[in-house]
Amino acid sequence: MQLIREIDALRSAVATLREGGRIALVPTMGALHAGHMALVAEAKRRAAHVVASVFVNPAQFGPNEDLSSYPRREASDARMLEEAGCAILWAPDAATMYPEGYATTVSVSGVSEGLCGASRPGHFDGVATVVAKLFSQVRPDVVLFGEKDYQQLAVIRRMTRDLDLPVEVVGVPTQRDADGLALSSRNVYLSDEERIAARALPRALGEAAQAIRDGEPVEEAIAVARRKLGAAGFDPVEYVELRDADTLEPVSALSRPARLLAAARLGGTRLIDNLGVLPKEDEEPSLGR
Ligand code: AMP
Repeated sequence: MQLIREIDALRSAVATLREGGRIALVPTMGALHAGHMALVAEAKRRAAHVVASVFVNPAQFGPNEDLSSYPRREASDARMLEEAGCAILWAPDAATMYPEGYATTVSVSGVSEGLCGASRPGHFDGVATVVAKLFSQVRPDVVLFGEKDYQQLAVIRRMTRDLDLPVEVVGVPTQRDADGLALSSRNVYLSDEERIAARALPRALGEAAQAIRDGEPVEEAIAVARRKLGAAGFDPVEYVELRDADTLEPVSALSRPARLLAAARLGGTRLIDNLGVLPKEDEEPSLGR
């Protein structure tokens, strides 16, 4: 695996790889875990060569967020990516990504508003901008994003369609610990006690999703989930919302595939999670039914 930090070197390395087949890109902010590695595994199934990027993107952090404390573990990230068969680790520094005089922002309206967009103003502009740059730097045939960051995936899909970007966007299901908590680089911020309490997030979402599927009014199921999160120590519960799975428009009754999304803080750590909620008639028929 080549570790590359300069754009010219990246372009020539990718050009050589491209002669050997399709290129997949896996954008990350590093501190890699099994969630990221599931993206790499899916990338390998879909392309001959995998480029992974590790860039802690200052543009997507707000002024009071964790940019300076965000975990950075480049050496172990590089080992994991190499073992997984990545061809290139693209790890530019901030001055390479945003040189002196940099002045362009990509802003996706609609899907980036509400949910995380409400509490993290500018966050999705930062994400869309860096991903547009990564697309133009690497020019991948396919790019992999996790459903863990479901709104981010929707923003990238919208941007790719709107700008006619010639790349296939693939979403990969959320990878979880055995107790259900979604893997996240930010889980390292949790104390042992908070880590146990954090289980309440996937559990509350799972129970609310089931209740909605069973016909309970959406508002009621969400109120119950919020109460359970509060009881487990989450404060504040930023949002628990049911949205259309494709457009992310709010939905008040389940008639199409929907997504139940939540963000809440535990101690100083902001956790997010989401689950698919299919109307009963769209569910896979189970054995014996
Ligand atoms: P990050 O390093 O947090 O910016 O994440 C990089 C990519 O990995 C994004 O597409 C995330 O959605 C994805 N990702 C992070 N955690 C998980 C997870 N637990 N399961 C699947 N994908 C994930």
